[in-house]
Amino acid sequence: MARQRLGQHFLHSRSALERLAEAACPSREPLVIEIGPGRGALTEHLLGRADRIIAIELDRALAQSVRRRFRQSPELEVIEADVLETDLGQWGPAVVAGNLPYYITSPVLEKLYALGPLLRHAIVLIQKEVAERLTARPGTRDYGYLTVLTNFHCRPEVLFTLPPGAFTPPPKVDSAAVRLTPIPPPADLKPAPFLEFVARAFRQKRKTLRNNLVPYYGPKVEEWPEARLRAEQLSLEQFMELHKRLVEG
Ligand code: SAM
Repeated sequence: MARQRLGQHFLHSRSALERLAEAACPSREPLVIEIGPGRGALTEHLLGRADRIIAIELDRALAQSVRRRFRQSPELEVIEADVLETDLGQWGPAVVAGNLPYYITSPVLEKLYALGPLLRHAIVLIQKEVAERLTARPGTRDYGYLTVLTNFHCRPEVLFTLPPGAFTPPPKVDSAAVRLTPIPPPADLKPAPFLEFVARAFRQKRKTLRNNLVPYYGPKVEEWPEARLRAEQLSLEQFMELHKRLVEG
């Protein structure tokens, strides 16, 4: 794949790199998985903060150069692989950190959420617009399926934002550092059918719950007082309540 297509924007702000590393490892961590080390800018700041660092880089030349650059650091293992094809849970519980390639932000986030208790927390640098979607309030333009999915699995917090000039070459968008702190799902709720229900409610964003959900769950949805609302108006708690109503019949 051509380099531009791999989302290669290298962060050169040393203060931002230090803040990311500090947020990833406020104290020494047993294991950090870094996604997309690039030339090792963040890796350098993570070294010394963790007993073991596994860095996953798809670009062969970059993987080799970062391996060479830190050959004196046995705690670092550079894996040349596609993060989307890698089982991130295979090494046990880990902190995940990375200045993510923006073209795969959503699938990477979904992969992190799927880790469940194997994710200690994540610090990711992502496009600012996506960060705003993760933290959006119901009823706002940015609120959608990704918001509900994220808040179901984690507590997302924007730590700081960065302008394009903090990167070489500069991306076209602003960026935001986000901390994702996992929260265990409620014991009485099965995540897969619940999230399928939420996805269906958002299928056509401008449509009411009634229009989106009756085809799947039948006419009982029409009796809900919320039937004429749109998915974007409902909080995570309301979605859980509605799903409970559906399951309990
Ligand atoms: N961490 C470096 C920094 O902050 O300067 C580089 C960050 S750059 C935004 C994203 C990195 O992810 C690039 O090095 C790119 O080659 C790598 N990358 C892109 N797609 C990837 C994938 N599917 N799996 C693993 N790494 C990937």
